[in-house]
Amino acid sequence: MEVINCKKCNRLFQYIGGRMICPVCHEEEEQEFKLLKEYLYEHPKATMVEVSQATGVSVTAIRHYLREGRLIITNDSPIGIECEKCGIEIKTGRFCERCAYELEMGMRMATNELLEKNKNPYANTTKSKMHYLRRTKDDYK
Ligand SMILES: [Zn+2]
Ligand SMILES: [Zn+2]
Repeated sequence: MEVINCKKCNRLFQYIGGRMICPVCHEEEEQEFKLLKEYLYEHPKATMVEVSQATGVSVTAIRHYLREGRLIITNDSPIGIECEKCGIEIKTGRFCERCAYELEMGMRMATNELLEKNKNPYANTTKSKMHYLRRTKDDYK
């Protein structure tokens, strides 16, 4: 088992996997998260600052939960974060739907290119084999 420093409070603790925060900070986060969820449930139209003041959870932490996709807010909530690519307002995650789609397509294209590259040498050998076969056939004539 590994002993590391907690990313939040710097305390040493036994790391058992997952997020690199100590059990104390983890517990605190769970509490914060619960508070946030309860408050948002009762005040779905509260702004980020209002939520932060009412729960004592920092705006940075709220944004962090939204980015992680852990905290889900309703569509009519004024709370939002920006898409990391185009800056449009989104409710959760890192990218807006359009950018997420574009990124996925870009990734798929890159994978396809790689596949094509790997396929090429194989395609060449089949072609030369066929060529060879045809030539032997001609020789028999
Ligand atoms: Zn800690
Ligand atoms: Zn975007």
